[in-house]
Amino acid sequence: MGAQHPECPERLGAIEDQLIASGIGQVLLRREAPLAEDEQLARAHPIEYVRAIREIAPAQGTVHLDPDTAMNPYSLNAALRAAGAAVLATDMVMTGEADSAFCGVRPPGHHACRARPMGFCIFNNVAVAVRHALHAHGVERVAIVDFDVHHGNGTEDIFEGDAQVLMVSTFQHPFYPYSGTEDPASNMVNVPLAAGAGSKALQAAVEGRWLPALEAFEPQLVVFSAGFDAHAEDDMAMLRFSDTDYRWVTEQVKALAERHAKGRMVSVLEGGYALPALGRSVVQHLRVLAGLNA
Ligand SMILES: [Zn+2]
Repeated sequence: MGAQHPECPERLGAIEDQLIASGIGQVLLRREAPLAEDEQLARAHPIEYVRAIREIAPAQGTVHLDPDTAMNPYSLNAALRAAGAAVLATDMVMTGEADSAFCGVRPPGHHACRARPMGFCIFNNVAVAVRHALHAHGVERVAIVDFDVHHGNGTEDIFEGDAQVLMVSTFQHPFYPYSGTEDPASNMVNVPLAAGAGSKALQAAVEGRWLPALEAFEPQLVVFSAGFDAHAEDDMAMLRFSDTDYRWVTEQVKALAERHAKGRMVSVLEGGYALPALGRSVVQHLRVLAGLNA
């Protein structure tokens, strides 16, 4: 994204560092991310958009897609691999090759709308995974759980009114991208939280709003938009979540997934810009996903 940009390559290094420090990196099954195919991307985006991104990708230098979102000569492959990781993770979880999966990828995806890149995002990785589950695996109901500090406006744009998808989310409001609060579709359980909200507000949102909706929906697969930029140490925003909040919220959703979805969970990295907190929070999330808490 360019020098001094928060969505930087060091984010993945910070996660890897904490996977090593915690010891869980050595016990996880690893896969390299394949390139997503146009047919897979075109389930979430118009094929004309996919082609336009391929065409605008520069052979040298940088092009800006919006004030926050740039592409250099490596960005197209990174974006294709980020979406491809979400597809492979879905395949592995749906076939039983893995119980759950986490995609440590960038660029993130949840601001990418049907036909518009936005907010560091080029392809909507989670949306590609959800549509892949619906079309390639015959799943009928998928839940998206988005705890990034920003509203997942791109995911909402793609799935609003789609009866096969329920999206539950928390986000700081009012805050970028200033969406999600005006008359959301009935399959969007959007819970805006005020700056400084903290753990208790998260718990109230999850217990009071998310879980009843998820229970009623009975998802057959759960896909996380896993952003960690609501952490208290992250300067990006001010929701003041802690490391253990990410463990707690993952536990709640995992219990739901075990009741309805045979425990099938795919998690895709979104935001998280305070590098030490990002690494630690991902470890908390992964410990629960992988059942390594004991
Ligand atoms: Zn974010």
